[in-house]
This record gives sequence, C-alpha cells and structure tokens, in this order.
Amino acid sequence: RTVYVNGEYLPEDRATISVFDRGFLMADGVYEVVSVLGGKLIDFDGHMARLQRSLSELAIANPLSEAGYLDAHRRLLAENAITDGLVYLQVTRGNPGDRDFAYPSADTPPTVVMFTQSKPGLADAPAARTGWKVVSVEDLRWGRRDIKTVQLLYPSMAKMEAKARGADDAWLVEDGRVTEGTSNNAYIVKGGTIITRELGHDILHGITRAAVLRLAAEAQMKVEERSFTIAEAQAADEAFITSASAFVMPVVQIDGAAIGTGTPGPVAARLREIYLEESRSAGL
Ligand code: PMP
Repeated sequence: RTVYVNGEYLPEDRATISVFDRGFLMADGVYEVVSVLGGKLIDFDGHMARLQRSLSELAIANPLSEAGYLDAHRRLLAENAITDGLVYLQVTRGNPGDRDFAYPSADTPPTVVMFTQSKPGLADAPAARTGWKVVSVEDLRWGRRDIKTVQLLYPSMAKMEAKARGADDAWLVEDGRVTEGTSNNAYIVKGGTIITRELGHDILHGITRAAVLRLAAEAQMKVEERSFTIAEAQAADEAFITSASAFVMPVVQIDGAAIGTGTPGPVAARLREIYLEESRSAGL
C-alpha cells in the first residue's frame, strides 16, 4: 500500500513518524474517516469542515488546504486502486523534539498521515440485513467528545466488552441516558418519530448524522433531537446507528432485549437506501 506522510507518498513499510510525535506520546491529534463508494469520496466537504473545527479547538494550525487534502485523497485512491473503502486522515501536533505537557511553539509543523483501506462491497454489508446487537456500557470518556481526537482507548475497551458479551457494539450511557455508540451516533424510532441525542460537548457531531437528519426532514419524517434511556430504546419500534463507514445500520437488540420485531425496521432501511443513493450521486 502507498501511504501519505507529510507531503510524501511512500510504501507503507518505509513511512516513519518520530518517537517524539505528540500524537504518539499524548494522543495530541485528530482524525477523519471518509468513505469511498464507486471511487467517489462521500461527504468530503463535511469531513473537512469538522477536521478544521477539531484542529481549531486544539489550536493546531491546519497544514493543508481543502484542495490539498482532496488531491492527496484522490492520489491515494488511484495509487492503491480503491473502488470501495475508506481514507483515514490524521493530523497531530507534530514532533517537538522532546516530551513536555505544554504545547510546543506554534511553528512546530503538524504531522499529517493518510492511508486507504480497501473494502469491496462496503455498501452491501450483510450486517445491514440482519442488524447489530448492542450492549450498554458506562460512558467514561473525557468531556470534549465533539473534538475528534485519536484518544480512542475507552471506546476500544467498550468495543471489547461488547464482543465479550456476544454483541457487535456498545451504546455508551451517561447519567442514565445514551450518548452514542463506540464509533457511531445512536437513534431510536417510536411512532414514526426518529429520536437522536442533541449536539453538545458529550457526543461527536457525526457527518453522517447531519446528512441523515437532513434527508429524513426532506422525506417528511419527524425528527426529535433529545436523549433517551436504554429502557426507552428497548421499548422503541426500531433502533439504528450512523457513521461514515457503516452508513445507516439497524440495531435489533439492546442488552439482550429485541427491539420491535427483532429484525431491521422500515425507517432504518429507508434511510439507508436514501443516504446511499444520495451519497453515490453527490460524492466527489
Ligand atoms: N461518534 C463517534 C464517537 C465516532 O467515533 C463516530 C465516527 N468516527 C461517529 C459518532 C460518527 O461520525 P461520522 O458519521 O462523521 O462518521
């Protein structure tokens, strides 16, 4: 695979990062994941806008323009012959040459890394026909989950707990209410209304969430942005999650309780279809 490091395109086994890089020592960096369907980048502008916001919140200067990122994404897709898959992009505060809690001087160049993952048939995942099982896990992450940092240890721990309990993912719960999944936003459907937590510092502002809520409104579906409990989710007609890599994925079981009929519901199926259709035509 060819990967991108600080302006260079290299075979993955020749790409290197300093041991002093603050991304490595302190998880001092942010990332984005853009899906690729039929060679097109899905929601690219949205991901770039969120990247800029994450960097601004951490006072890291954005080292590339949006056009620069787009060129790099396209070159990696071409060099790696990717039709369906993902592009992972990470920007860290870079290498200050030593370890220190204080940020290094502002002229320290950030480290930029990009790589592709090939996932043939990404949009036809068999799981979309059977749905995911999720379990609830206490949300013990930090208080700025709206910044997409590479600090992903707690979500990894929650994912491992979910797997150990025979589930596909965990829904994180804070003060008795669902925040989001380990790497996705969480939704329930009751009486035809789509319910998902309101934006704030406690969840990531999903790019897929924004697109799906816009498409739902355009399709005259009712949307309520508010939090919900696990008990309310278990009593819902449907549940689902959204993310750049899973698109819209039905959830059919929460903590062992079947949701609705225990099979993917019509609202999730319809949203998945219209999201994929729009993405395919609007992709860059
Ligand atoms: N929440 C969290 C915690 C995530 O990690 C992600 C995906 N990275 C999402 C939500 C979904 O965001 P998006 O739709 O932009 O992929």
